[in-house]
Amino acid sequence: MKGNLLSSQAMVDLRSDTVTKPTQGMLQAMFNAKVGDDVFREDPSINELEEKAAAMFGMKAAIFCPSGTMTNQIAIKCHTQPGDEIICDELSHIYQYEGGGIAFNSGCSVKLIKGIYGRITAQQVEESINNRNDAHKPYSKLVSLENTANRGGGSCYNFEDIKQIKKVCEANDLLLHLDGARLFNAIVAKKESLTGYGKIFDSISICISKGLGAPVGSVLIGTENFIAKARRIRKVFGGGMRQAGYLAAACIYALNNNIERLEEDHHHAQQLANALQQKDFVEALFPVETNIVIFKVQGKYSAAQLAEEFKKHNIFVIAISKTQIRMVTHLDVTPAMINETLQVINRL
Ligand SMILES: *Cc1c(COP(=O)(O)O)cnc(C)c1O
Repeated sequence: MKGNLLSSQAMVDLRSDTVTKPTQGMLQAMFNAKVGDDVFREDPSINELEEKAAAMFGMKAAIFCPSGTMTNQIAIKCHTQPGDEIICDELSHIYQYEGGGIAFNSGCSVKLIKGIYGRITAQQVEESINNRNDAHKPYSKLVSLENTANRGGGSCYNFEDIKQIKKVCEANDLLLHLDGARLFNAIVAKKESLTGYGKIFDSISICISKGLGAPVGSVLIGTENFIAKARRIRKVFGGGMRQAGYLAAACIYALNNNIERLEEDHHHAQQLANALQQKDFVEALFPVETNIVIFKVQGKYSAAQLAEEFKKHNIFVIAISKTQIRMVTHLDVTPAMINETLQVINRL
């Protein structure tokens, strides 16, 4: 970084997997994209991405959106009526980090579950369903799961547990949505199939602007009817884009080239966790299953002070609370950067 006399070393940005920049290959794919007006459904690159994403999950249809917040919020809007209730973990992105959109956009209330590392169980879901015949209670309508769970340290569901939740949903007439912003991390870590997910969920949101490295883009996947409704809601939310095929081309490139390599990010996160585990200033680490490392700081540093220490070495991490630090590995973090970070951790 220009003007930084403290360090000649390249910036190591572990704040989020959203910070990646397009590679030459991705830029070339964007440059060559065929485009048209997508509100008229005439953008060949967006049509290709939507068909590709639906096919990957063995689902019928998909819609390209500018953000994962929008895909989640459209899904919630499509699945609910004002006054309905949504069941989710208390740390869920849809509840914590989407600006109160559940209430703002859909007029719904939320039943929060205290899960484990952002994951909830079938039993907890069952216990959270309101009695339909009790007019005092909001109507339980939708269950939303997050995989991997961001605020749970990138933790992954066991697929068997998802199946149990689906059973409860079926028995109680509840719809099931997946916030799969980092689903590909879970798929790679657990060696699962996307079609397995496609069979279970009524809607799936994926982000291609996170670990997969596209500059912009999320996709919402579901049935033909659901996506037709989603297309209308996307327009209402102001998300109807025109020649956005340049972005879709980046997403297609990411899906073709950047899924398997997530393994490398998981390995890097594990290396960071192993080094942190040795340090006195680390009180506890969340289990590291994918590309996110969250730990609790104790002793000589507060979380903010430790983040400042890292910054002196041109390493950027986030203090996500007064006592917790988050580090996220991604496509733009090289093995050399991890080694550099390990050395700094060892010296702190
Ligand atoms: C990042 C993220 C989203 C969507 O975020 P956008 O910045 O709106 O694309 C949704 N859910 C989870 C779990 C996320 O981490």
